[in-house]
Amino acid sequence: MGEKKLPRFIMCFCTGECPGFAKLDLWKLVNFVRNELDVEYVIVHPQLCVTDGDNFWRDYLREGDKDTIYVVGGCDPRMQRKMFKDAFADKGLDFDKQVVSLDLRNMETPEAMKKVEEVVNKLVGV
Ligand code: SF4
Repeated sequence: MGEKKLPRFIMCFCTGECPGFAKLDLWKLVNFVRNELDVEYVIVHPQLCVTDGDNFWRDYLREGDKDTIYVVGGCDPRMQRKMFKDAFADKGLDFDKQVVSLDLRNMETPEAMKKVEEVVNKLVGV
């Protein structure tokens, strides 16, 4: 009867040079999420959709760990699904049940913070 696991927040920052994130203060966002919201922890990755991102998922995801929810900030949720679902499936995980993809592009920092906050609060039942 363990306690419900807290979600993890993974922020893909699109190399740091994508114009879509020009208005977003990455560190302000991730420090807000890790300090103010009910998450287990936060990870920042520079580019999850290329080879080293794929390597990260395959190394990081644990076989059969179906209880963990990942809130992934980055680009369009459909793109995220297309790019990440196989890495989840390879570990016996279900992308559609375990990932909440958030498109945080073209947002000011407070707007992105609010979007992540709403999703995390909903997941943890606040
Ligand atoms: S997964 Fe999306 S946000 Fe991340 S680097 Fe690729 S295109 Fe950019």
